[in-house]
Amino acid sequence: MRIRLSRERRSTFPRRSDGRRTRGEGKDRLSRQRRSWNMSRIRGKDTTPEKRVRSLLHRLGYRFRLHVRMPVPFDSLSASSGERVRVRCRTPRAVSVDTLLPKHKTVIFVHGCFWHRHRGCKNCTTPTHRRAWWLKKLEGNAARDKLHQRALRKLGWRPVVVWECQTEKLRSLQKLSKRLSKLLG
Ligand SMILES: [Zn+2]
Repeated sequence: MRIRLSRERRSTFPRRSDGRRTRGEGKDRLSRQRRSWNMSRIRGKDTTPEKRVRSLLHRLGYRFRLHVRMPVPFDSLSASSGERVRVRCRTPRAVSVDTLLPKHKTVIFVHGCFWHRHRGCKNCTTPTHRRAWWLKKLEGNAARDKLHQRALRKLGWRPVVVWECQTEKLRSLQKLSKRLSKLLG
């Protein structure tokens, strides 16, 4: 995930006219709440893998839209039994889609192997410190992805998942390019 400092964070400490910081405003003087809020603003938007997939789509000549929130019926997200339990967030009414190809009725998710549990991938690891907490979180992410994909399918969209590791090397990008052009026609 790419981490960017928000404008907010940089402007938190106004400098005095002589260029020195005012008292008590060292670089780590953010309140806990403020830091937590800052961290919560860090999103995996426009990551390198996403940009690579987009430039690939562009080169293949496909038109797409970015960052679309797709409203989904409440029912299609309230999954039955076990899945519901593993999903940590409140039931959302919209699925946010990074890359959407309207003409092909296809949505493309570019997923980080760690955060979205790419099974069998070397990057699908679980931190050993606070392992149970991490497992719950990461498995929750993966379960939520499944729900979102199912909801979109019900609406007639075709979800396609591209994994981060499939965008890392030239060879894998070429493979991906073939896969997408075959899929999209
Ligand atoms: Zn992977």
